[in-house]
Amino acid sequence: MSDMKNSAEVVVIGGGVIGLSIAYHLAARGVKDIVVLEKESMVGMGSTGRCAGGFRHQFSAEANIRLSLLSVSKLERFAEEMDQPIDFHQDGYLFLLREPQDVQLFRKNIALQQRFGIPVQLIEPADIARILPNVQLTVDDVLAATYCGKDGVSDPAGVTEGYRKNAKRLGVTIRTEQEVTVIDVAHGRVTAVRTKTDSISTRVVVNAAGPHAGAVGKMAGIEVPVVPLRRCIWTTRPFPLAPPRWTLVIDFSSGFYFHRESGGVLFGMANREEPPTFELSVDWKFFETVMEVAIHRFPPLADAAIKNAWAGSYETSPDALPILGKVSELDGFILANGFSGHGFQHAPAVGQLIAEEIVDGRAHTMDIAPFSIERFREGKAEVETNVV
Ligand SMILES: Cc1cc2nc3c(=O)[nH]c(=O)nc-3n(C[C@H](O)[C@H](O)[C@H](O)COP(=O)(O)OP(=O)(O)OC[C@H]3O[C@@H](n4cnc5c(N)ncnc54)[C@H](O)[C@@H]3O)c2cc1C
Repeated sequence: MSDMKNSAEVVVIGGGVIGLSIAYHLAARGVKDIVVLEKESMVGMGSTGRCAGGFRHQFSAEANIRLSLLSVSKLERFAEEMDQPIDFHQDGYLFLLREPQDVQLFRKNIALQQRFGIPVQLIEPADIARILPNVQLTVDDVLAATYCGKDGVSDPAGVTEGYRKNAKRLGVTIRTEQEVTVIDVAHGRVTAVRTKTDSISTRVVVNAAGPHAGAVGKMAGIEVPVVPLRRCIWTTRPFPLAPPRWTLVIDFSSGFYFHRESGGVLFGMANREEPPTFELSVDWKFFETVMEVAIHRFPPLADAAIKNAWAGSYETSPDALPILGKVSELDGFILANGFSGHGFQHAPAVGQLIAEEIVDGRAHTMDIAPFSIERFREGKAEVETNVV
């Protein structure tokens, strides 16, 4: 046995941005005895450390829009409240739409987003240059675009560090190189969590295992429908025609996106043909397809040198909406999974809501029923269609 505590009020499995946000918010609510168990040698080495840092209000599902409103308001105050810089740029998301059915879909989404007071607009291709001056985009095949200036990009490492250090300050124990292998269950509730060397008795376990949520669910006898989809990112060295602002531009039909990064750009595009995999090597074969789309959409990329590349997992649920909260058949087992590529931006809200679910018995800042795992059993899932 190591020197690890052998009991805790709450054990959080996973030291990504979600697990650390939950641990921080629980501690801020006065929970005294919280342990975060992370299998890697450092926190933030899973999907969190591989993410593009975007945040947006432009979702199709009302529940996701509500989550974004709560999260972005917390990100706006983050640097000050958490005493941690997060390279926060509210320079907008611009979706470029090439298909008539996408324009129709985004019109519907905009109407919903505007009902919440979100400043999003449908713009003509000719007006794109007004929104993004000095960015040489190809727009002659674009039918319309949508823009929301309250969307933007921020630094996932900064947000993760903010939650880590403030959780520690409030007394949270964070243990690395501690892979959870067993969850003990008795009489319909969780009772303990075991790693290779230790056992911690607890009445509350949070599954914040990112792409590994399914495996952790299985340990408790719960099927958590999350699959890992490989997503690759490339960054470039600085080049003269790099965009001056951090606006995240998305070619919606292909899924190609880019934003400014260190004087160059960061870009990516989903390989929608690839089946679920935990593979994390860079897909250089697919790179050729990505560059074809990239250079067509943003021609200055033809002259940019690649600086870095990596791959990560989108932890994807069947309807691309998160899976949050309690599980009816197992007391004390709490889910924070299935963010489907949006977990960085939703982590601030999710931390607060899961803390409420545990401390107050029910999340109340907003209703998380639409995110309950029960939806898959009841078959009344709303699907998030605005996934990149
Ligand atoms: C290429 C890419 C781009 C992305 N871009 C964006 C974006 O622009 N905006 C956005 O909002 N989101 C984005 N995402 C998604 C975002 O990164 C994830 O949704 C988010 O990081 C999920 O956080 P998490 O803490 O749930 O998962 P993770 O960061 O994966 O953390 C889970 C942790 O659990 C640990 N773990 C797993 N199993 C065990 C176990 N048995 N015992 C102990 N520890 C365990 C893992 O080691 C890991 O550290 C992107 C993702 C990728 C891959």
